[in-house]
Amino acid sequence: MLQTLSANAITEDVPSVATPWVDVALTQLSASQSHVSGGTPPPAPASVRFTRRMTDSHGRTIRDLRISITDRCNFRCVYCMEPDVRFAPRESLLTTDEIIRVARIANSLGVRKIRLTGGEPTLHPELTAIIAGIRAATDVEIAMITNASLLTREALRVWKAAGLARVTISIDSLRAGRFARLTRSTSSPADVLAGIEACLAEGLTPLKLNAVLIRGFNDDEATDLAALARHYAIEMRFIEYMPLDSGHAWDSSKWVSAAETRAAIEACFPLIACGDDDPSSTARTFTFADGVPGRIGFIAPVSSPFCGACSRLRLTADGKVRPCLFSTTEWDLRSTLRAGADDDAIAEFLIDATWTKQPGHGIASHDFRQPSRPMSAIGG
Ligand code: SAM
Ligand code: SF4
Repeated sequence: MLQTLSANAITEDVPSVATPWVDVALTQLSASQSHVSGGTPPPAPASVRFTRRMTDSHGRTIRDLRISITDRCNFRCVYCMEPDVRFAPRESLLTTDEIIRVARIANSLGVRKIRLTGGEPTLHPELTAIIAGIRAATDVEIAMITNASLLTREALRVWKAAGLARVTISIDSLRAGRFARLTRSTSSPADVLAGIEACLAEGLTPLKLNAVLIRGFNDDEATDLAALARHYAIEMRFIEYMPLDSGHAWDSSKWVSAAETRAAIEACFPLIACGDDDPSSTARTFTFADGVPGRIGFIAPVSSPFCGACSRLRLTADGKVRPCLFSTTEWDLRSTLRAGADDDAIAEFLIDATWTKQPGHGIASHDFRQPSRPMSAIGG
């Protein structure tokens, strides 16, 4: 299987089609950390609170809640987590009951989809109870994103029976040595492929895969990874590397644009735009021109920000509400939960926090500041 895919490897002479204005702005990106304040959000206008919907001051409505259920991970991906990362104290993490309660209240405010993330969500000892609790308390679609290292058919069967509807799996390399260097784990591409096959066998479909390409590391694998979509008839998505790594090692020279990745893939597999993407979706998707089933998605937060139609809100493992992945302010819902707030007060907190959502992440602006929290703590 891996040999078949490797046969599709592309050469290094793929032309760079990076967007020039992004290159200029990102070269000047400061790695300085921003300071995150906690606290309670200022009240949204009474007319907004009255709607019982999470809308922001730019007219966007929240439908998608991403809950990081743990900041722990068994990988240390180079673009995400440093080997010596310090995890939050256990008592600071939201409990299963607190997670389910926030999910229920968010659902009453219009949330339609909840994605469980982390860290690595499959490490959570009460994952089944979290899924079952959200299922019982809400009518949302429950999705999960995982590095697949701990997926077994038995576990997937239990989670599906509890209410898990969709899975996304991260896979950044199909080469064992490189995978080990990239994830700094003892896991292998074969383990991830086994996880993919287990999801398909258990009917956890449509299944999506995510990859982050880093120049000089794994950017020569775009076509091999795209071939996975064809092999399994699923969607393979390429996410642009974002300045959200705990080591603050991100710089524009390591960044690979979605356009460059697409050009590399199209050298082997011409693509046709699907044209049916939901405007609030993070990915722009394509089918294969030769009719082979499978899709390719490009998530381009750096070169083509999709903030204008954003419908997402994030809850960190330690109970902070982040209106944006790149927020420099986050709101301390955990203190409010633990102070005995009733459901109405929690609902107002979520409405107020949403109202503060910034218009966009501003990665390409000169005064962009990298959030002090990495993706693993925020929940991707
Ligand atoms: N551990 C799980 C996993 O890796 O799938 C879930 C959490 S992980 C933070 C969620 C997603 O964020 C993964 O697909 C990962 O590739 C992506 N991610 C992490 N750091 C990133 C970065 N600096 N830029 C772009 N994507 C990143
Ligand atoms: Fe862990 Fe996922 Fe971050 Fe990799 S990307 S270190 S698997 S949380």
